[in-house]
Amino acid sequence: MKDDTPQRDGSEPIRLVSEVPDNFDRQHQSRQVYLTFDDGPDLVWTPKILDVLGQHKVPATFCVLGLYAASHPQLIERIIAEGHEIANHTMTHRDLSKCEPEQTRREILEANAIFKRTCAAATVRYVRAPYGIWTESVIAESAKAGLTALHWSIDPRDWSRPGVDAIVHAVLASVRPGSIVLFHDGSPPGESYPDARATSRDQTVTALSRLIPALKERRFVISSLP
Ligand SMILES: [Zn+2]
Repeated sequence: MKDDTPQRDGSEPIRLVSEVPDNFDRQHQSRQVYLTFDDGPDLVWTPKILDVLGQHKVPATFCVLGLYAASHPQLIERIIAEGHEIANHTMTHRDLSKCEPEQTRREILEANAIFKRTCAAATVRYVRAPYGIWTESVIAESAKAGLTALHWSIDPRDWSRPGVDAIVHAVLASVRPGSIVLFHDGSPPGESYPDARATSRDQTVTALSRLIPALKERRFVISSLP
């Protein structure tokens, strides 16, 4: 790893965050978990996800695409206004492992510029590589852009529409303090979808409305990323 990787305390370089360590808050007996939503903002599904999060008063991180943010600035504003965070999911969702460092840099920095233009109040701290495909070069370019590489620890594959029960079960079966859960509120551009159902996030919305109370019952606290 290169020397310009961000340092937590001057010793251990932060390479890639998949889980948040040491976050058991003994005083409050709280066990924190983190919800993330990729590939939006989407005109149909992002508002529905925001409605569910709002009903339960829990925060989330939206890993948004610059291309979609430019088309739907009002959704970026709503995400921020309702207390959530946006993270950089690049401009167009290319597989960065197939990009030259210069292209990777552009994918990240152009998206950041759009977020700044769209919502001055937005602070972007994290970047998530499309498909979760990380290389040393991608992590290095993320660090140069001042962003921490954000992965996940639980992937219920909600995008594949496996059924609401399957999504709920996948999360509850493996959740533990510090877990970062991956969901999707949109679909990447430039991919072929057999029909409109393939891009529907209805199962994600319903699963979320069941998961939030279930996590609370298990004494998890759904939190903003540190
Ligand atoms: Zn994605």
